[in-house]
Amino acid sequence: MHVTARGFNAPEVYEIDADHIATEQDRFKRALEKTKIELDQLRDHIDDLSGEEHGKIFDAHLMILEDRTLINKVNSAIVDRHQNSEYAFYAVMQTFLEAMRRINDPYLRERAADIDDVCQRVLRNFQHDVDHDSSERPDHQHILVAYDLSPSETASIDRNHVQGFATEQGSINSHTIILARSLGIPAIVGLEGAVIDIKTLSDSILDGYTGKLILNPTQKTVRDYKKRALKKQKARKKLETLREAETTTTDGHHITLSANIEFTNELPMVKESGAEGIGLFRTEFYLLNGGEMPDEMSQAEVYSEVAREIHPNQTIIRTLDAGGDKISAEPLTQPEPNPFLGWRGIRVSLTRKALFKEQLRAILRASAHGKTGIMFPMVSGLREVREAKEVLKTAMDELTKEHVPFDPHIEVGVMIEIPSAAIMANEIAREVDFLSIGTNDLIQYTVAVDRVNNYVAHLYKPTHPAVIRLMDITARAAKKNGIWTGICGEMAGDLLITPILVGLGIEELSVGAHQLPSIKKAIRSLSHQECSEMMREILTAESSPEIAALSADMARKCYPDLLEE
Ligand code: PEP
Ligand code: MG
Repeated sequence: MHVTARGFNAPEVYEIDADHIATEQDRFKRALEKTKIELDQLRDHIDDLSGEEHGKIFDAHLMILEDRTLINKVNSAIVDRHQNSEYAFYAVMQTFLEAMRRINDPYLRERAADIDDVCQRVLRNFQHDVDHDSSERPDHQHILVAYDLSPSETASIDRNHVQGFATEQGSINSHTIILARSLGIPAIVGLEGAVIDIKTLSDSILDGYTGKLILNPTQKTVRDYKKRALKKQKARKKLETLREAETTTTDGHHITLSANIEFTNELPMVKESGAEGIGLFRTEFYLLNGGEMPDEMSQAEVYSEVAREIHPNQTIIRTLDAGGDKISAEPLTQPEPNPFLGWRGIRVSLTRKALFKEQLRAILRASAHGKTGIMFPMVSGLREVREAKEVLKTAMDELTKEHVPFDPHIEVGVMIEIPSAAIMANEIAREVDFLSIGTNDLIQYTVAVDRVNNYVAHLYKPTHPAVIRLMDITARAAKKNGIWTGICGEMAGDLLITPILVGLGIEELSVGAHQLPSIKKAIRSLSHQECSEMMREILTAESSPEIAALSADMARKCYPDLLEE
């Protein structure tokens, strides 16, 4: 299976000296020429294989490389903004592509895919030709400003040098920011014009709490922020003493507090956090990280490593959740008009059953090395659950015949992240061992607000009455059928919402490792009884602010110290 990223990754950006402008423009010219030669050869090759008709598709690609307007724009960016040429090229092309994608015209969208393809080629040709002085990159602690960062780039950020990042693209519910939160990296997204407006190496303070990037701060601001940082550091140290403490409310109600991971390099942080397991391993970031999808044995190795590390606690491995805002599972002949309502999650797995079974076999192999669970994403109803379970049964039968050890009682769960699944929770609960509410998606599908669209971000309301009621339906259905409910969306890590989650009687919360200590302290400060009583009012409330206020009041009463900025 081939992998395509939705859009390509941003190249590094750095400021060039005035006397390097000509060199950068020359690098740009050479990257274009090299790409033209490649495309010419490719066209000739296709002509030979299948005739001129097919080779012609590369003419459109070649025309893009000769477009004077684009070339002039890149050259001006190099001169005016002192940007390195690959970045200048990338930024110009991104602006152009975004404009094209916004136009609701299938022909133009197809052309956007062509341009995307050419851009990737040109960028690759820059990469073989980097001759800038790497000493220009700061080797001291700094804040990274980029057009966009992918989740894997975020995961590999060098924490010794990068203190935080700000990007022009992205939204607070994107996977890049979810990952930054898990790793405790201060970050701001959606900062329009950041790359162009901010001069490299200017003094700055990044305040991830308020989403502010303060440039050239005064001495007083620096002093204030230093004081605040010290206070935060002390508070975190204090929370570390709770590492081994039980996650139990003041009236003895236990909640399992687990961690979410995307990459195995998060494991040390998870262990340090005192997590009682992994409630969500988002496997798509590992599986679609580039090149071919890893085969069964490579997957089994990775899953087993995680299961072994976390044992005797449980590792819940979510099967591939490709699509949506994440990487697509394979190149699509037509770009999806609404990827979030498209070929995503279990829908992909059930149409690519051989690959699905391979992943299930790998997870089952891991279950012999440590307590493991399986979870299916983006389920909309019963049929998908039953079909997925059939594939799992085949995988189990095969492994049994092959004498491969696995846990035959492995827990199988379903993510409740589509309203239809929440409404059908009672029927779904009869088929599985647990339900895990994916609030990130449940919110977007309930209130019809794309979670990564900044234009409607103000309408994305975790405390919308409909969202809370769907969560309540889910938790009740699970209880009725004797199974447990977890929450693995970002709501699980929101201190202002913890009283609602305790009140709903949720048995497991899975959060970013960095958020875990404060959520533990919050739960230990709440009374389950009081939170359940508060729910009577919350479940009849008519508006999101009303619900948010009730929960926040309880949070302020029980753990004001955790809410201080
Ligand atoms: C969710 O939707 O809440 C969830 C945990 O899944 P993801 O964020 O990976 O879509
Ligand atoms: Mg989801």
